[in-house]
Amino acid sequence: MGAQDWGDGTRAVRAGLPEPRKYEPPLPGPVFAAHYHLPGEPTGPYTYGRDENPTWTHLERAIGELEAPGDDTVDTVVFASGMAAISAVLFSQLRAGDVAVLPDDGYQALALVREQLEAYGIEVRTAPTGGDAQLAVLDGAALLWIETPSNPGLDVCDVRRLVAAAHAAGALVAVDNTLATPLGQRPLELGADFSVASDTKGMTGHGDLLLGHVSCRDTRLAAGVRRWRKIVGAIPGPMEAWLAHRSLATLPLRIERQCAGALALAEALARRDDVTGLRYPGLPDDPSHAVAAGQMRRFGSVVSFVLADRESAERFLDALTLVDDATSFGGVRSTAERRGRWGGDAVPEGFIRFSVGAEDPDDLVADVLHALDVAART
Ligand SMILES: *Cc1c(COP(=O)(O)O)cnc(C)c1O
Repeated sequence: MGAQDWGDGTRAVRAGLPEPRKYEPPLPGPVFAAHYHLPGEPTGPYTYGRDENPTWTHLERAIGELEAPGDDTVDTVVFASGMAAISAVLFSQLRAGDVAVLPDDGYQALALVREQLEAYGIEVRTAPTGGDAQLAVLDGAALLWIETPSNPGLDVCDVRRLVAAAHAAGALVAVDNTLATPLGQRPLELGADFSVASDTKGMTGHGDLLLGHVSCRDTRLAAGVRRWRKIVGAIPGPMEAWLAHRSLATLPLRIERQCAGALALAEALARRDDVTGLRYPGLPDDPSHAVAAGQMRRFGSVVSFVLADRESAERFLDALTLVDDATSFGGVRSTAERRGRWGGDAVPEGFIRFSVGAEDPDDLVADVLHALDVAART
């Protein structure tokens, strides 16, 4: 039985481990090195600490095994953060005069990226994620950026359909897979050229480090991304890389629990009449469910919904005892926030983005229902 036949749990606990060596730990510890012994001709792989590090190498192999099981042509590059990974793809691939298509409802910092791309003479077009609306603005594009499910609105687009149209138009396709993680969706298998993620979120899952990665199958594209990392120096620390690798072993356990909790929470919220605008792609009657079910293996840990107004949302967040009021998502401890407090997303004042952690779903649902009752009492 080859590695491509393994289940996710088996693959995750073994991912990226080097060949066993007597007296060495299964996962070698972080290598702290600015430079390596290098007598004579400076040949690789390890010469200078900004270029390569053995701890990154192990992590990159591990992530690659999750992104494209059984495919050893996949090349993964890890970065200091999700934004470093996103910037590496966009700024290494696009040139002045190119057209890039971004979602208009994606991660907040994309608006800043857009300004920077435009300052470099790149034309940026945007369209919503839902309804595959980016199809309408693909003409002449060099690169299509997809974020599905989108953060925070949880809309979903049909990756295979967008990839087919983009490739026909001569555009590369990158998918921000942060919300789903490779256990929820594998963009490279859906045809994308780049699978990109902030591993700060569900991938590492403990809310204690920032990290990002880019995976692709084309060695030339991968080399461009790796070169960009060397130029800007957006490299992860060895300790972060090692912690991330250690965390990957429990990704299937965490994701299973978090997805089950998210579905339980969404089902409970669906029965409340003080909750509107409920979105979770795993709910059978969610507008995204049919498309999501065709490309996702798990529907993620984030649920979004709307309470009457800003005050109700704030009372709700205050009344929660198992859920921290914090941004970010995907961690083992549930978090929630009133997204409108940032001002960047087009969301109602009472919009809540809720990230379901690894608590027992019954405890979490009880806490949420209690907090909703408190919020309704004025
Ligand atoms: C958080 C996030 C990012 C940015 O990641 P950092 O690790 O914070 O730099 C990018 N895309 C999505 C969808 C995110 O949620």
